[in-house]
Amino acid sequence: MPKASPRFDTLAAAKGWTPVASKPNGDGVTGRPTMDVEKIFGENTFGLAEMRARLPKPVFKALVATIEQGMELDPTVTDAVALAMKEWALEKGATHFTHWFQPLTGVTAEKHDSFITPNQGGGAVIEFSGKELVQGEPDASSFPSGGLRTTFEARGYTAWDPTSPAFIVEGEGSSYLAIPTAYASWAGHALDQKTPLLRSMQALDVQARRALKLFKTPAKRVLATLGPEQEFFLIDQEFYFRRPDLIATGRTLIGGKPPKGQELEDHYFGSIAERVLACMIEVERELYRLGVPVKTRHNEVAPGQYEMAPVFENANLAADHQQLMMLELRNTARKYGLVCLLHEKPFAGINGSGKHLNWSFGTESANLLEPGATPHDNMQFLFFCTAVLRAVEKHQDLLRAAIAHAGNDHRLGANEAPPAIISVFLGQELTEIFEQLEKGGRATPKDGGLLGLGSPVLPQLPLHSGDRNRTSPFAFTGNKFEFRGVGSSQSISFPATVLNTIVAESIDVMVTELEAKVDAGQQFELALRDLLAKEATASKRIIFNGNNYAPEWHAEAEKRGLLNLPNTLVALDKLKDAKNAEIFSKYGVLSPEELASRLEISTEQYFKTINIEGETTAELVRTMVLPAAVRYLNDLLAVADRAKTADVDVSGIRAILDNVTGLVNRLVVKLDELVAQNEELGGEEVEDKAHHMLEKIVPAMTEVRSLADRLEKVVPDDLWPLPTYRDMLFVK
Ligand code: ADP
Ligand code: MG
Repeated sequence: MPKASPRFDTLAAAKGWTPVASKPNGDGVTGRPTMDVEKIFGENTFGLAEMRARLPKPVFKALVATIEQGMELDPTVTDAVALAMKEWALEKGATHFTHWFQPLTGVTAEKHDSFITPNQGGGAVIEFSGKELVQGEPDASSFPSGGLRTTFEARGYTAWDPTSPAFIVEGEGSSYLAIPTAYASWAGHALDQKTPLLRSMQALDVQARRALKLFKTPAKRVLATLGPEQEFFLIDQEFYFRRPDLIATGRTLIGGKPPKGQELEDHYFGSIAERVLACMIEVERELYRLGVPVKTRHNEVAPGQYEMAPVFENANLAADHQQLMMLELRNTARKYGLVCLLHEKPFAGINGSGKHLNWSFGTESANLLEPGATPHDNMQFLFFCTAVLRAVEKHQDLLRAAIAHAGNDHRLGANEAPPAIISVFLGQELTEIFEQLEKGGRATPKDGGLLGLGSPVLPQLPLHSGDRNRTSPFAFTGNKFEFRGVGSSQSISFPATVLNTIVAESIDVMVTELEAKVDAGQQFELALRDLLAKEATASKRIIFNGNNYAPEWHAEAEKRGLLNLPNTLVALDKLKDAKNAEIFSKYGVLSPEELASRLEISTEQYFKTINIEGETTAELVRTMVLPAAVRYLNDLLAVADRAKTADVDVSGIRAILDNVTGLVNRLVVKLDELVAQNEELGGEEVEDKAHHMLEKIVPAMTEVRSLADRLEKVVPDDLWPLPTYRDMLFVK
């Protein structure tokens, strides 16, 4: 019987987990909460129905014009909205309100204010004015601003986003009202994720409507839409709290792959373990109440890995809801004795997590990336599809930079996630159509033929193309594009901002050319055909339908001159290119200063992330791994000693001793090297520090890890102080 080991205690605790008390709205029989989706959906949001019921008609109309058509908000209505919102929130048990915003840390921020204001008589009144609704001033000088705030103003302010409904966050005994807001410096520089996203949606709207006008397609407004598929791991909290690396960095910095990993592929789409299912159902219920339309859930490829996805929504709402989904997953997991890991690569050698970002854009009545039933619709579809191709071809660097961060470096390029090379999967049918566009460019339209393409082709556009290519970083999946490089922990706002902006630019360029030709008297359809032929040829190299993991593709991509940006820093470096400052400022999405501040913040975050990892690795090895190994050596030496007097053959023990001592000696050397690099930092400038992390710390950590992982395989189970991959991934 081994001595009491913290690891075994942990295992026992994880195994012995019992459900917590049911929620008050449980059905009282099974202890499980009821879920009447129709009744609860959106009940914790101040949405349109609530507004209609509570607001004077003209106020409601003004708000709807803002929400649905993007009209500027009439400032005279805000007091009325604030009053109604406050009453609703109080009825829901809220005592406080907060402006809820998304600083460039990638997560959300809030500072709570009480509704209560003391009055002169020593009492208190409940107040919430239009001014408080519209604008806030969080003392937020610690949020990253990439140099923007210091040059202008110390503080930033938050501004109400009326297009995303306010919602109630329930706490034990009291709740609060959260008001989605944008966050900017006093000089008007965006310091958040929401502002540029909204600006990019506006740019796409304007340009797409110009195009629709040429096609004589009526549209009040064009909205970008997003449907993010969130992958994540759930592990028992007992394990989590025994892993300083998970606590500090969200991923395991040491730990070897167990003999059984995901090889058997028995987890993918398997039945969901009971505790996990209960947790996911509660997440879903809470999200429904917040008006988040979660739709699918399933087991993912790796053991302990899952996915949840909502139905798509307009990009701004989807981005807010995505943040709520991550929050809800984290919070709810804890109620089930679990911890939700959103990191891109919590476990080495096991699949990482991404967030496939489904993206499209459409009018109030039609998805513009949906191939249509008529030739007219199809030409319009081909126009927009070509614009996307053109945008991705021209701005591969921006798409890659939008998903660049330390966590994602473990995925991109590893053989499980799309490579760091951006290409587009179109599927065979659509690719053939583009090839014909390319060839047919100069042909005269035949009678009854469609723009020289031949009528049989167009009506056969792949309505819901069955062939999917899981290896492509950017795939057309029937009526939308799926950007697969986005990391699981990431805000979807910036990737979407980039997509909206670059596609707006391509539409702009293409429409401008068409308008000029039509003005010069050319027939629209002829001009369109020529343009599509030209653009299809120019963008051709970005199309790749094959296996993106194959080494041949990497060679081929290089021949095609496509970018291969293998790590965060080379990808971020592209943000310095003049063309990128130009496109963002031309479409009013980010000023050159705002772009520069993003680059600075992202670089700093990279540096800080790896710095923490480097120091945590060193500490973990020094205080947990080496002591365990030394204890083992102590046991071995004691046995060897006694064996001598007992006259037994000690050759086996000697061999083990030599092996363990060898590993310990080498580990100590590598640890010293890591510690020295950790102290070094690489310079004064953020960029120098970041490069030091990439070039010195990451390799030093890898060396330390490989030795520590070998020790894990030889040190006795009862001496090993850390929960193992087997514990974390398989004990549910
Ligand atoms: P898969 O896993 O096969 O990619 P899912 O059904 O899990 O498919 O995810 C598809 C996602 O794409 C969903 O989130 C869905 O809402 C989203 N989606 C569908 N149509 C659009 C659209 N027009 N714009 C944006 N996202 C969309
Ligand atoms: Mg998908």
